[in-house]
Amino acid sequence: MKQRTGAHLEERISTYEDYLNVKRKTKLSFFAIMADTLERIMAASGKVFGLACDTTVLVNEACRRHDLGPTAAAALGRALSGAVLLAGLLKDNQSIQLIFEGNGPLGKVIAEATQAGDCRGYVVEPRAEVPLKNGMIDVAGGIGRAGFLRVTKDIGLKEKYTGFVQLYTSEVGEDIAYYLTESEQTPSTISLGVHLQPDGSIAAAGGFLIQSLPPADEKILQELTEQTRTHASITGMLAAGKNPAEILADLFTNVPFKHTGSSSLRFHCSCSEEKMEKVIKTLSLDDIRYLLELDDGAMVKCDYCSNNYTFSKSYLQLIAAHKSH
Ligand SMILES: [Zn+2]
Repeated sequence: MKQRTGAHLEERISTYEDYLNVKRKTKLSFFAIMADTLERIMAASGKVFGLACDTTVLVNEACRRHDLGPTAAAALGRALSGAVLLAGLLKDNQSIQLIFEGNGPLGKVIAEATQAGDCRGYVVEPRAEVPLKNGMIDVAGGIGRAGFLRVTKDIGLKEKYTGFVQLYTSEVGEDIAYYLTESEQTPSTISLGVHLQPDGSIAAAGGFLIQSLPPADEKILQELTEQTRTHASITGMLAAGKNPAEILADLFTNVPFKHTGSSSLRFHCSCSEEKMEKVIKTLSLDDIRYLLELDDGAMVKCDYCSNNYTFSKSYLQLIAAHKSH
């Protein structure tokens, strides 16, 4: 029987999950014409930095790739925005990784960003949910109040630098601020936000960070703190159509500053077929034989971006033969 195009489409969208996915894809094609950016400014005194980012497109991309539930989307969106802001303080070719490891149902929340603006991340339990708190998504409940924030910086040396603090409120932004004060002695004001639509897509995501080099310029910091209190939330400002440069200009209304740089941001994973081949090669002979018995080949999924890499049966047999000699 000949099928009409409309009926065919209806058949394809057979579950509510599929419906959400189609909605997300539609949103993405709209967002594809927009670009995420990070802007950096410095107070004229030279000691206070301001950074702001719009991460709406890349957080949508993370949600689509990992099929995140609302709590995971809010947690990872904040973590990715925080990683982008901290990476904005680094030098060329450097990168940062944040791991929020709490006792909540989301498990670990992992976000990475490079100074060049590439970021990636995932949530161990992407569909875990906790009840709303005062009508809002409860990120702290999802991550769990007890646990650690681990921050690892790759600054191009042989050894990576790792610091960690106990989770402070598990709301992500406050934990990063606590880390910066406790571990790096750079008191900072940080605000991160993710605004979800009822259909699960991200209407706005981003954040700002204000940091003073020691010794802190108390007068300027007090002025900036006042400004952050009087302005709408970061997602409110983004949803109102303000870009990161305008958000910084608003926050630094009474503080002379100069623009020091901007970067475009994207969700981008550094995984590749070659890297996944290395993973396969580290498996034991028994594991490879098990895979050969189980199926026609092996599929390896990258945790960071959910890309799948398939390895044929003949390839696995070749690795097995190599290992058994
Ligand atoms: Zn990947």
